Amino acid sequence: MGLRPYVDHDRCVSSGACVLEFPQAFAYQQGQALAIVLPGADELTEEQLREAASLCPVEAIRLFDADGNDVTPES
Ligand code: SF4
Repeated sequence: MGLRPYVDHDRCVSSGACVLEFPQAFAYQQGQALAIVLPGADELTEEQLREAASLCPVEAIRLFDADGNDVTPES
């Protein structure tokens, strides 16, 4: 997997879109309604990761390439 997802907790508004659509990759942090990335995110294709990022209404899901560049698609 070339892209690494990250959830920016300063942006996440707990809409649940990522958790509902890709439950293997995103879940709510225990005790909080902020999404976190699960190890299962490794199983998603780059296309699925881009889809997850585009689902987020507040662009909290950021995607980084192997060099650490933020390559999140603009919505
Ligand atoms: S889709 Fe975005 S705002 Fe909604 S829970 Fe996931 S990271 Fe948070």
